[in-house]
Amino acid sequence: SENIVKADLAIIGGGPGGYVAAIKGAQMGAQVVLIEEDQLGGTCLNRGCIPTKALLETAHEYKKLDSLSKRGIKVTGKELDWKQALAQKDKAVATLVGGVGYLLQQNKVKVLKGHGQFIDAQTLLCQHSDGTKTKIQAAKIMIATGSNPKRIPVEGIDGKRILSSTELLNIPRLPDSLAIIGAGAVGVEFASIFHALGVKVTIIEAMPGLLPTMDTDLGSFLLKKFSKDGIRVEVNAYVQGMRDNGSSEEIRIKNLDGQEQTIEAEFVLLAAGRQANTAGLNLEAVGLKLNAGFIPVNEYMETEISGIYAIGDVTGGIMLAHVASRQGIVAVENALGKKIKIDYRSVPGCIYTHPEIASVGLTEAEASQRYDVAVHRFPFQANGRAVAVDEAEGFVKLVSDKKFGEILGIHLAGPMATELVGEAGLAITMESTVEELANTIHAHPTFNEVLMEVAHAASGQPIHNV
Ligand code: FAD
Repeated sequence: SENIVKADLAIIGGGPGGYVAAIKGAQMGAQVVLIEEDQLGGTCLNRGCIPTKALLETAHEYKKLDSLSKRGIKVTGKELDWKQALAQKDKAVATLVGGVGYLLQQNKVKVLKGHGQFIDAQTLLCQHSDGTKTKIQAAKIMIATGSNPKRIPVEGIDGKRILSSTELLNIPRLPDSLAIIGAGAVGVEFASIFHALGVKVTIIEAMPGLLPTMDTDLGSFLLKKFSKDGIRVEVNAYVQGMRDNGSSEEIRIKNLDGQEQTIEAEFVLLAAGRQANTAGLNLEAVGLKLNAGFIPVNEYMETEISGIYAIGDVTGGIMLAHVASRQGIVAVENALGKKIKIDYRSVPGCIYTHPEIASVGLTEAEASQRYDVAVHRFPFQANGRAVAVDEAEGFVKLVSDKKFGEILGIHLAGPMATELVGEAGLAITMESTVEELANTIHAHPTFNEVLMEVAHAASGQPIHNV
């Protein structure tokens, strides 16, 4: 049987891009249909942002018990129930997924469960798991189908010890050792989780440093911290092939000089990039072409076919949940008659390691190509709150324009860095100068005083540092 549904806007994919766009569209008065073949919330809620943060908290709390003796707190009999840790994570995910369903329902978004694909530029087909089908006729269509982990073309990649982030998030028991291929956000967060839980971790990265897309000071900081903590890091390392020896995986890597060595680990996490979910969309029916596997869009988030928009990971670019959500809002506003451009100037990038890493605006290298820049740093060692709570590792780095003092980029490594970056983002959006940030009274003692202090440094002298 085949039903027909009419809508102003039909969205394929219910991740942080698609579901946010659906709510926004409904709030603007449109009749919205959202097609999702799996769980609402997409990668972010079900196998990305949220479950990783739940497990990171477990791992960091577990590790922290070791340092409590210096506060006079004695802990004996520390033990980890991994099954319970997984259950807590799953409960957090279920709560949030349920919340998204409730929001969509309250906003009167029609959610169709099933696989969506194009029939033509204004018609979609949704195939439900029970074999029935729904045809959706929509004035505007949005593709928000996200991405999945990319395989790299090396020998042995399909071995049973090679896991994706999704598989590792549900591994039934903790491995003895783990090798991680790729040192982007996903790779280093998993390194942090499993190291803190006592697993022997090795990171393998082809680029010269960790976090290759961020300001290089951040990657260098994390490399030193990881090495000090006992995480083995191999940079400039190219994976040649992998082999299962029956009890563990042997990974052959080659460095820049052509020297080879073998790393052994019980399991391997493949975290070397993501690819767009476009197979099965029948894009041929509308003649939509891909660029390097992703759907190209303009700054209004419209594809080359008028009336069809694409947002989030499926478009490549900055693959983050909050970027997908913002793109969704921009696309929906444009689909419903406005004309606004996406603005990427203050996109925060956050890494939830211990300590945290966060960044917004231009890196020093990017800024130097366009401006005469000033660079200032302030250490958390000179921050009262950080010393009091014994979390004084790290720094803030401020990149500003020498001529006008405009804040161009702020890069943080330290306690609560992922929260502090919000203030830094607002400063960039407001085109604030270093003086304006320095003259804003910050509460004492707080971690975010480091932002005021680094601005003092940039506009003259820091008070609490020499
Ligand atoms: P997705 O979230 O991937 O959602 C797409 C949805 O479309 C899915 O639910 C899928 O089932 C559905 N779909 C696909 N094809 C069809 C079809 N044909 N018909 C019907 N439905 C379909 N980002 C952050 O900002 N912060 C983080 O801390 C963070 N941590 C991460 C950790 C990990 C381990 C991973 C893998 C990613 C992480 N990300 C993080 C990235 C973030 O998850 C993604 O950028 C984000 O989910 C992209 O949103 P999206 O809406 O574009 O796509």
